[in-house]
Amino acid sequence: MLNIILFGAPGCGKGTQAKRLAESYDLYHISTGEVIRSEIARGTELGRSMEGYISRGELAPDSIVVEMVRDYMRTHNDKGCIFDGFPRTTVQAEIFDKMLAEIGSKVDVMIFMDVPEEELVRRILLRGKDSGRADDASEDVIRNRIEVYRAQTAVVADYYSAVGKYAEVNGLGSMDEVFDRLSGVIDSVK
Ligand code: ADP
Repeated sequence: MLNIILFGAPGCGKGTQAKRLAESYDLYHISTGEVIRSEIARGTELGRSMEGYISRGELAPDSIVVEMVRDYMRTHNDKGCIFDGFPRTTVQAEIFDKMLAEIGSKVDVMIFMDVPEEELVRRILLRGKDSGRADDASEDVIRNRIEVYRAQTAVVADYYSAVGKYAEVNGLGSMDEVFDRLSGVIDSVK
């Protein structure tokens, strides 16, 4: 059972590649950002509690995000999964490890998709034109998300690197090129 974490700054292409990889390797795909957006769209209490964080480009509280993933895994445990946008803090990574260990599972590899900042901003602004995501429309919010990524999320790479479960790919190039690089890493841990 393969559990893959796709990792990188906002706009690096995690979501697009996660969908393709999930199909190609027959894995589930969970995007915590998408789960949060769907809670907000459905107007749930959980959604309302997260609206502020998302619109400011801040991280949602670890406790809430971790419970969302725990819930998801209760009903999606018969095959492996691509985790897209999670874990995003070291605390999330630590709890995630325990959660997986409890069900006799583990992370196989975290793959970092490397994309320079100016390209990230360019891609997100482009996406914002038709994604309807308010957090993709404002350059200030985008820059703040990248800043939050640097300050709180980038260190999660060290966590997986320390246990030999970390790989990097170049996130520039065509979607097919990036997909092939990611597939190469996954094939090497299969
Ligand atoms: P992006 O990678 O472009 O920022 P996402 O859809 O992954 O897009 O996330 C959108 C927003 O959802 C984030 O800015 C953050 O507010 C929230 N979010 C998503 N995943 C997490 C997480 N694991 N921990 C905390 N907040 C999260």
